[in-house]
Amino acid sequence: MTKIPDFPLNNDVLMPQLGFGVFQVSDEEAERAVAVAIRAGYRSIDTARIYENEEGTARALKAAGVPREELFITTKLWNADQGYDSTLRAFDASLARLGLDYLDLYLIHWPMPGRGTYLDTWRAFGRLYADGRVRAIGVSNFLPEHLTRVMDAGDVVPAVNQIELHPYLSQAELRAFHAEHGIVTEAWAPLGQGKGLLDDAALAPIAAKHGKTAAQVVLRWHLQLGNVVIPKSVTPARIAENIDVFDFELDTEDVAAIAALDAGSRLGPDPATFAWMG
Ligand code: NAD
Repeated sequence: MTKIPDFPLNNDVLMPQLGFGVFQVSDEEAERAVAVAIRAGYRSIDTARIYENEEGTARALKAAGVPREELFITTKLWNADQGYDSTLRAFDASLARLGLDYLDLYLIHWPMPGRGTYLDTWRAFGRLYADGRVRAIGVSNFLPEHLTRVMDAGDVVPAVNQIELHPYLSQAELRAFHAEHGIVTEAWAPLGQGKGLLDDAALAPIAAKHGKTAAQVVLRWHLQLGNVVIPKSVTPARIAENIDVFDFELDTEDVAAIAALDAGSRLGPDPATFAWMG
């Protein structure tokens, strides 16, 4: 079984550099897919309140019988729950659905800057962290100006910013900002959601050279950049394929060819304006 390297967060908590995402997976399907992932060696699972699969994820974790301290469980506060008191309530509800008594990482899903609630939300995150109910707190889809406001307002620097990041959107500026402030970059849609990117003609020769697939090449690119990745699949063979990325190394030429694919194009919404409440 593959051993996944750990990444130290800014409070020395260790986070596996590769985990398993369950976006757009039904509760029942999440139960099956997370069970397969745990058997394949994944220990970090990324869910969210809005995915509506925290319970299926919990059933798989319970059945797997892996010691709690070997797991790294992330969930996210949904937009409709932003605000101090509502965050505390939403955290309790997520934790109960997950069947856990503490969380490894809790993220603010989107900044929704137009609503002006993320600083109050972050204060509640600080309280949960101080109370030992979550080992690390972070954000998702935050832009540098949002991160700056959070860092200026409180004394806990987000451990992680989970952002859309793949070869078509390599996020060099945000990654540099994170590096400067000790924030780990976690890539969502690391495979570009499968569509288009994995068929890009630039990837095939690199994959052939290493005897790997395009998906494995893309995941390796992330790991070598220093990103945490959480690829998603519900297909057992792909779940196994996506974790089998620790036995080869891209060379400078490969990395340059992948860097040249950056088009600054998003698959998801613009964090500056997205405010869907679900
Ligand atoms: P992804 O880049 O992980 O792509 C997943 C898709 O790629 C699969 O549905 C499948 O179609 C294809 N795929 C997977 N493995 C493959 C393989 N080996 N070969 C060929 N095709 C393959 O996209 P994602 O699911 O959007 O992102 C990963 C995780 O990030 C999510 O599951 C979720 O946990 C998280 N996420 C977070 C946010 C956020 O706002 N914070 C948004 C989207 C996703």
